[in-house]
Amino acid sequence: LIALGQAEHSTVTTCAYCGVGCSFRAEMKGEEVVRMVPDVDGKANHGHSCVKGRFAFGYATHPDRITTPMIREKITDPWRVVSWDEAIAHAAREFRRIQASYGRDAVGGITSSRCTNEETYLVQKLVRAGFGNNNVDTCARVCHSPTGYGLKQTLGESAGTQDFDSVMTSDVIMVVGANPTDGHPVFGSQMKRRLRQGARLIVVDPRRIDLVRTPHVQADYHLKLRPGTNVALLTALAHVVVTEHLVDEAFVALRCEGDAFDKWRTFVADPRHSPEVSEADTGVPAALVRGAARLFATGGNAAIYYGLGVTEHSQGSTAVMAIANLAMATGNVGRPGVGVNPLRGQNNVQGSCDMGSFPHELPGYRHVSDSSTRAQFEAAWGVPLHEEPGLRIPNMFEAALDGEFKGLYIEGEDIAQSDPNTQHVTAALTAMECIVVQDLFLNETAKFAHVFLPGSSFLEKDGTFTNAERRISRVRRVMKPRGGYADWEVTQLLANALGYPMDYRHPSEIMDEIARLTPTFHGVSYAKLDREGSVQWPCNEAAPDGTPIMHIDAFVRGKGKFMLTEYVPTAEKVNAKFPLILTTGRILSQYNVGAQTRRTANNTWHAEDRLEIHPHDAEERGIVDGDWVGIESRAGQTVLRATISDRMQPGVVYTTFHFPFSGANVITTENSDWATNCPEYKVTAVEVTRVSQP
Ligand code: SF4
Repeated sequence: LIALGQAEHSTVTTCAYCGVGCSFRAEMKGEEVVRMVPDVDGKANHGHSCVKGRFAFGYATHPDRITTPMIREKITDPWRVVSWDEAIAHAAREFRRIQASYGRDAVGGITSSRCTNEETYLVQKLVRAGFGNNNVDTCARVCHSPTGYGLKQTLGESAGTQDFDSVMTSDVIMVVGANPTDGHPVFGSQMKRRLRQGARLIVVDPRRIDLVRTPHVQADYHLKLRPGTNVALLTALAHVVVTEHLVDEAFVALRCEGDAFDKWRTFVADPRHSPEVSEADTGVPAALVRGAARLFATGGNAAIYYGLGVTEHSQGSTAVMAIANLAMATGNVGRPGVGVNPLRGQNNVQGSCDMGSFPHELPGYRHVSDSSTRAQFEAAWGVPLHEEPGLRIPNMFEAALDGEFKGLYIEGEDIAQSDPNTQHVTAALTAMECIVVQDLFLNETAKFAHVFLPGSSFLEKDGTFTNAERRISRVRRVMKPRGGYADWEVTQLLANALGYPMDYRHPSEIMDEIARLTPTFHGVSYAKLDREGSVQWPCNEAAPDGTPIMHIDAFVRGKGKFMLTEYVPTAEKVNAKFPLILTTGRILSQYNVGAQTRRTANNTWHAEDRLEIHPHDAEERGIVDGDWVGIESRAGQTVLRATISDRMQPGVVYTTFHFPFSGANVITTENSDWATNCPEYKVTAVEVTRVSQP
């Protein structure tokens, strides 16, 4: 109330945390945010918010912010504060020196899902037009790249099918590998409202997440599978649908490719895919699988919501396709209350993928090998573009260790903390000659950087974010960039210094260019967003008001395509030395690697990562609640305190990864998704032992 009295003016903007994309009114006194008030007109949140968006904005003015550019010759040298001109010129000179010495492809760029659409678009443009290669990637590589691949193959578009409000007409909700009440709290609450109204719930998760049993909500089925066996379980569900004649034959005949469906039907009907056989892999009793499949296929409108528990596996892309298969086979695509819905972790995962930040795709998910797409961008950008896909993030690391990749521009991403097998990542970073980090803080990656460029928080810039339901919302500047420039301006400065001219005066001009060059964005403009509040793509001539629900009359690819989903066990095996499986997740009050939330009052609610361990496993090891434990994997070791919890199943332990000193990624391995290289964060064989306090 005191804060309310202090506010002098307010501006509507979008939360910079999770993929729900809540709309807030930033109440201001001068250039100081007094408080963030959830916007009742926000179409993603309808006036609701969680503790992150509501309270965790103080990091923007935290004393740890670095607001001056800095350079150093070697990473062992102290940082030297320099002017913007000197820092940008130094970075550009170094990138050009590296290209002259090692070749055009020896440099690249990484953008973040925390950046706006406009910033991400500029980073990939700088790499493709300024560096002259396709070595650009995004942190979506390590979270939802399998969604992009899997949904494109089956449905034809790398995006979720529904708007959030669609869940209010679902009769059956299946949550696979997601924890909406912690990871996507406002949507998690909306989901709970629907469940309290009587919708039925199937949870597929190795851990008992809150949704399984929370006041007035009780899951009908909790399929508590072993980590790494999603594909076996999802294919077993499909086996029941096919063999018990629960397929929506009319939908499949009308909407899907017949040959692919026939092959898939024969494939999943094979007895080796039955719940009884797959139980040996998944650990889920066959009767539960059969019951869940029947409920999903016959319970009315059935919707699937999934998260990183699906994608961050060696078969992440296969599991995404298995989910799409299940939805198509039961006719649950193309109307309210149904669909295939990836819950995006970060605020702009969807947008960063849409904007062409993968090395194989130009904006709008068009492959770089497509000559007509390239010709369109070449005409607009005035440079020739290369048809060969560039390096993915893990390929950049490999090339660096081979001495072939030497320079990296990183905007808003802390790869030294967030990518798996930290030792491997830091070895690759150490092998490079010029790393330019553009960020709010001197993060873990900056320890290996030669140039530091101050980044800007979401409060300091204009732009747009695109949430998990493809909703494009405005981000509005409420304070001046503390370093002097917004992130898009810094990228523009660097492009110009590299000799590739950029001359945008406002992010709206960048969006105008995106809209011109991207068919699904043809109808998007800041004027439209200001008028309507937000809009869901595709927004173009065919859908001037946007598209809340996709694939209504036909799939984007024409006919839906069933894909075969052979279960291949992960290479990460438990054995006598590493008998437990570690899996990872998030907690409500913190966000990803914690760079933002750890610098806010939210830190008081969850001040450390802990290892959750089942009472049986703890007792075997003489561990009691609160003990310090050492966790060792084939990749490395770390130390955490233990929480004894029967949320876990015996043989599986769990931790969050919000704190750098706990180093969860020191122990995760380099296994990754076969199609996209998304790391297998969710399955690491470990041993846990009681240790003394470190
Ligand atoms: Fe922000 Fe997500 Fe919380 Fe909404 S639910 S306030 S977008 S963190």
